[in-house]
Amino acid sequence: MAPSKPTQLIDRFGRVVNYLRVSITDRCDFRCVYCMAEDMVFLPRKQILSLEEIRFICEAFAELGVSKIRITGGEPLVRKGALGLLQDLSRIAGLNELVLTSNGSQLADMADDLKAAGVKRINISLDTLDPDKFKALTRTGDLAQVLKGINKAKDAGFGRIKLNAVILKNRNHLEVGDLVQFAVEHGIDISFIEEMPLGAVDNHHRGDAYYPSDLIRQDLQQRFALEAIADSTGGPSAYYRIDGGNSRVGFISPHSANFCASCNRVRLTAEGRLLLCLGNEHSVDLKQVVRDHPGDKQALKAAIIAAMLIKPEKHEFNIHEQPVILRHMNATGG
Ligand code: SAM
Ligand code: SF4
Repeated sequence: MAPSKPTQLIDRFGRVVNYLRVSITDRCDFRCVYCMAEDMVFLPRKQILSLEEIRFICEAFAELGVSKIRITGGEPLVRKGALGLLQDLSRIAGLNELVLTSNGSQLADMADDLKAAGVKRINISLDTLDPDKFKALTRTGDLAQVLKGINKAKDAGFGRIKLNAVILKNRNHLEVGDLVQFAVEHGIDISFIEEMPLGAVDNHHRGDAYYPSDLIRQDLQQRFALEAIADSTGGPSAYYRIDGGNSRVGFISPHSANFCASCNRVRLTAEGRLLLCLGNEHSVDLKQVVRDHPGDKQALKAAIIAAMLIKPEKHEFNIHEQPVILRHMNATGG
């Protein structure tokens, strides 16, 4: 009897990959200091996947058992046609969760349309509630516009909105209590992220700015009761409930609490490269496969299945050394 075809993606370490993050553009209207250098050169248009190619690749992943897709960037909502793409992706059979990560700058105008397009949940980046610090961290962002966007997303009725905050020592580490208070008042979740050494940044030394999750937890415990919970949203956060209320606080701790053993995800870059690990360069050029074999989903699926054999066991980040990974987060699909 012929062997049955795999309907699941499984790597060499027995991890099932059921979650795909897709960067639909490397471009962004912000220039966050931990994500980009001030002068960024973005990819020429023809080098990035077309919306049709993204849809085709997402369909192939869904047929291979991927049930969750996160659309990200760069800022995904600055790509022309993002809404139509999301609408198309939401109709893919087998895809239970279509979610989005955004800097919030476009949400005041787009939240209702995103909800109607079938986006289930949104993560919104917010590192501080101080307008000057916000400007300093994002270089170009306007806090008031993002706060308007968060309110609009709440009104649009998305399930669990989550804030993401990258915490840098001496830049925004004193903000963590106010950010949690904001999350509690709005009945939303928040995750604190340790900065990852992806690409060269010109604004600070990443080792000096390292502020571990343990310290954030200690700071928060001065003000809130944190209760560890087993909740998982299929991501790398370890979660706590705040003061017995609704809001959850998560910690994404690539340096202080490695989460690679439970990794269930891969990333598709805006250029069409399938990245098997955020903290390694192992990748497969799916754009080439799609352009060499137009419309041939079997060839694409075979390339995706084969890629599982090179998914590394764990990331190799070292915050205190010069970055080994040269790509920035915006090109990676965080
Ligand atoms: N532009 C959108 C946004 O900011 O939410 C989506 C893309 S952004 C690259 C996704 C997430 O990665 C954001 O929450 C951002 O804070 C985070 N991020 C960017 N650079 C990072 C870094 N070097 N280390 C850790 N997180 C980073
Ligand atoms: Fe843009 Fe998001 Fe990177 Fe900030 S973190 S520069 S908003 S892609």
